Amino acid sequence: MNDYDAIVIGAGNAGLTAAATLQRGGARTLLVERHTVPGGCATSFRRGRFEFEVALHQLSGIGAPGQAFSLRELLAELDVADGLEFVEERDLYRAVVPGVYDVTLPADWAGAADALEAAFPGNRSRIERFFELVRTVTFWQVAARGGTPVEQLDPVLFRQGLRPFKEVLDEHFDDERLACVLGTYWGYLGLPPSRLPFQDLALVLFAYFEFKPWHIRGGSQMMSRALLDSFLRAGGEVRFNTAVEAVLTRRGRAVGVRLDTCDEVSAADVVSNASLPTTYGMLEGPSLPSAVVRDLGSRRVGVSGFVLHMGLDATPEELGFTTSTTFVNADLDDERTYASMRTLQPARGIVASSYDVEPIGFAPAGASHVSLMTLQYADAWQALPPQEYARAKFAYAESLLDLLENVTPGVRDAIEEVDVATPLTMMRYLGHPGGAFYGYEQDATEGWLFRDSDRESHVPGLHLAGAWTGMGGFQPTLTAGANAARRVLETTAAA
Ligand SMILES: Cc1cc2nc3c(=O)[nH]c(=O)nc-3n(C[C@H](O)[C@H](O)[C@H](O)COP(=O)(O)OP(=O)(O)OC[C@H]3O[C@@H](n4cnc5c(N)ncnc54)[C@H](O)[C@@H]3O)c2cc1C
Repeated sequence: MNDYDAIVIGAGNAGLTAAATLQRGGARTLLVERHTVPGGCATSFRRGRFEFEVALHQLSGIGAPGQAFSLRELLAELDVADGLEFVEERDLYRAVVPGVYDVTLPADWAGAADALEAAFPGNRSRIERFFELVRTVTFWQVAARGGTPVEQLDPVLFRQGLRPFKEVLDEHFDDERLACVLGTYWGYLGLPPSRLPFQDLALVLFAYFEFKPWHIRGGSQMMSRALLDSFLRAGGEVRFNTAVEAVLTRRGRAVGVRLDTCDEVSAADVVSNASLPTTYGMLEGPSLPSAVVRDLGSRRVGVSGFVLHMGLDATPEELGFTTSTTFVNADLDDERTYASMRTLQPARGIVASSYDVEPIGFAPAGASHVSLMTLQYADAWQALPPQEYARAKFAYAESLLDLLENVTPGVRDAIEEVDVATPLTMMRYLGHPGGAFYGYEQDATEGWLFRDSDRESHVPGLHLAGAWTGMGGFQPTLTAGANAARRVLETTAAA
């Protein structure tokens, strides 16, 4: 008799929904997390009078109560929806390139079309045609992923879906500024529009327009705790501050794990929320199956990030924030911005989240919490001599503030608390190679047409869930964990 029916490695978004779904589905489940709190990226921490949100800039998929296909359905299924308060952002984002444009897109299709037409007159019909293509390709993409047979899918999906996003933008618009505003969300996927498949960025735009961008009162940590509570209420067991150091196999099948306490724990199924390289690296037994080696060799570790968390002794209005989410880019050259993410040259693009435009409760009255993020690969940070690290990170943080000063002049004077996270911080806290929080680079070869993110691992009994097996981000990983658990439960029921 196994110690458990299932063991889940890692309590990130996917690990938590996997564990809660398994336990609530009747599988006796152990959740093992190396950190001291649940959530992985989805956590927060305290500095002085402020709580700092680690990751959540904009939550997609929540939608209105009762809206079909929303993330609320999954949260309700796990009995956590009622305990969480979602805070809707009015606008999708404000996009600024100093001296070139300053445009705020409301979070609805028509309002955004109006704002773009006002900023770049004469483009209304092109904008509407473009939005229609975004909706159509997303509709058929979702249908395809939901199992609609290929012959019933609209060929527009195959004609447009894999084209680079930039190519489709250039086909619709002569005005490079307008194209840049519409491509702003590339920072949420980690590759520039020239390398992102149209269907991926279309899906992100659709998700935020249709289901709106949200924050959570009490931050993402509140949702992580609620998911953990759901798991515990159902009788699940959790071990924090404990890492899995090996996945045990017998005759090629995963049969349990060894913890860093040296305990061995057996289970019929193991679900891993750790990165793929970490998960396969922990497999004990004969050499890795050749399919695994081929798979890992064909993928590139994605981007990480640099975050400047700030507690400011001023309100968003006093500082000049008009939206919760503001993107500031140095210029229109996304390729140059992407190339700079492999260097320690000054940041060329930031997303600034002001968590008190629609307050989430992380700052006392009269103050505000703001975080600035730019994407960064880990390599340049890993190459720094240790004695250079502190100087380099504060110099780099200054470059993010320089960009922010374009929309909030004098913001430096209001700083009360700061904390800085580099890709090395992400590596340490998440245990992922390169600190990559979206998993592998999300180019066309990572998409659902070539890799089935819902597929099983190459090792029977070992299941994968999280950013490293599909798309990164909150909504995809929360959904992926529940899906992985349902497949385990279905297989067990059928056996
Ligand atoms: C700064 C930042 C900003 C972001 N902004 C957004 C945003 O605005 N919107 C959005 O949708 N997404 C955003 N993301 C991305 C999103 O947070 C992640 O893609 C998502 O949370 C990843 O979830 P996951 O399930 O893959 O697990 P992860 O969060 O990667 O967690 C994996 C867990 O596994 C644990 N673990 C690893 N190895 C072991 C082991 N051997 N034993 C035990 N435990 C182990 C880790 O400690 C960790 O808790 C952001 C991320 C960051 C860091």
